[in-house]
Amino acid sequence: MTVLVHPTALKDHKVRDFRMLIDGRWEEAKGAPIDRIAPSHGVMVSRVAAGTKSDAERAILSARRAFDVGPWPGMTGAERSAVLLRAADLIAARAEELAYLDAIEAGKPISQVRGEIAGSVDIWRYAAALARTLHGESYNTLGDGTLGVVLREAIGVVSIITPWNFPFLIVAQKLPFALAAGCTAVVKPSELTSGSTVLLGEILMEAGLPAGVVNIVTGTGPEVGAVMTTHPAVDMVSFTGSTAIGRLTMANAAQTLKKVSLELGGKNPQIVFPDADLDAFIDAAVFGAYFNAGECCNAGSRLILHASIAGDVVRRIADHAAKVRVGDPLDPETQVGAIITPQHLEKISAYIDGAQKTGAEVTHGGETLNFGMGQFMAPTILSGVQPDMAVAREEVFGPVLSVLTFQTREEAIAIANSIDYGLSAGVWSRDFDTCLTIGRKVRAGTIWMNTFMDGASELPFGGFKQSGLGRELGHHAVEDYTEIKTLNMHIGARTSWWVPKG
Ligand code: NAD
Repeated sequence: MTVLVHPTALKDHKVRDFRMLIDGRWEEAKGAPIDRIAPSHGVMVSRVAAGTKSDAERAILSARRAFDVGPWPGMTGAERSAVLLRAADLIAARAEELAYLDAIEAGKPISQVRGEIAGSVDIWRYAAALARTLHGESYNTLGDGTLGVVLREAIGVVSIITPWNFPFLIVAQKLPFALAAGCTAVVKPSELTSGSTVLLGEILMEAGLPAGVVNIVTGTGPEVGAVMTTHPAVDMVSFTGSTAIGRLTMANAAQTLKKVSLELGGKNPQIVFPDADLDAFIDAAVFGAYFNAGECCNAGSRLILHASIAGDVVRRIADHAAKVRVGDPLDPETQVGAIITPQHLEKISAYIDGAQKTGAEVTHGGETLNFGMGQFMAPTILSGVQPDMAVAREEVFGPVLSVLTFQTREEAIAIANSIDYGLSAGVWSRDFDTCLTIGRKVRAGTIWMNTFMDGASELPFGGFKQSGLGRELGHHAVEDYTEIKTLNMHIGARTSWWVPKG
């Protein structure tokens, strides 16, 4: 059973056309645009310019000029901060428009996206503060003849490539920090969800960002993204997306030794001990698995339950999952929206079939939902999953929860660490030692203790192992967009190296 929220036909929607922002000017695509069909309603909702290789090259050269000639990198932190704060205010003022676009292009529940836009405003404000506090180091301890100063300089031109699952939030985890450091950028959103990023371009122009500092080139990965990861005028690539394309991005960037920051996939465990507050956990399990329809790098898609509680816990999660409201993303009561594309829905279904063939059991859901428009999937629980099954090791990226069991703490840690991903994990226990041991031994960038998928602009986020490289958010984020330069200064007469002393 699933609570169904039937989408109603889009009556007032006007198809929006999105252009590209290159060197401070808005440009149409030269070729046919890319049509976006709403995953929830099955009708075209926007058309986005299909950028070409030459558009990407012009954008990169514009960002290069804006960096090399200025004024952006040479402005004071206070001046850059003021622009970022104005941008944050303008995002807040256009929050409803931005939320609607992400909801309709990505199929996300509108109430959830409103939260993402509010979170993005906070991140832009936080990055604005970092623009004023970024600093290097000085060494006055090297003797009378030497003063050392370590500068943090903006790294230069940054290519920013984002996925479809959190279109506005993810660009907020990158761009304001790059701008705070004094970098210039070329941004490419996913071709499936470009609208809100293009609106961000309008907002940044209105906020007073000089032309060329941010360029937005829409289009596909192989056409636009490939140039952004190989072009010699780019200094750094900040990429969020799949591990497969992350690997390709790193290989491409290696040709010119660009710095690379990667936020990739996850298969995140929640480890639950019998002494946990199970009421709190059941809610977090359902939230962790089905938030954003499971199309979430942080999804808690692997439950590792102590065998003594597994049967009862799974029954309670199933009862809770049955109350989740699935359907129309534009209904404020909806909790789970649509699946991004028909092809992706097929991929999720294939994982469920494959799991059943290898011995797992569908305890809840498992079926696609037919509303007569769009594509949807029921919240699903797979029990009896073994650690070597594909559904326990690979990112399904859908509302599918895999349940595994353990007997000892060591076994739980071994199962959690047995896969290639290491983005995040949760541990549930009232025992301090248990939480801290799991927190220290599980190899993941974030460990939640007695909660799941909480976050703050101040807290760094990123992955171990094949979940990524580098950290976003927190004060480390702005440092990631800098180069370190040493000024080694001599004071007084310098001793010649070849004249013998005395
Ligand atoms: P994807 O890798 O298919 O695409 C991501 C971006 O890369 C898109 O803009 C795409 O156009 C571009 N791209 C594709 N081919 C390219 C190429 N050859 N060169 C350069 N760019 C190219 O990922 P997706 O399907 O859009 O997003 C889902 C994935 O993103 C999942 O694996 C998810 O876990 C991951 N993700 C990770 C995080 C994180 O913070 N760790 C956050 C969100 C999503």
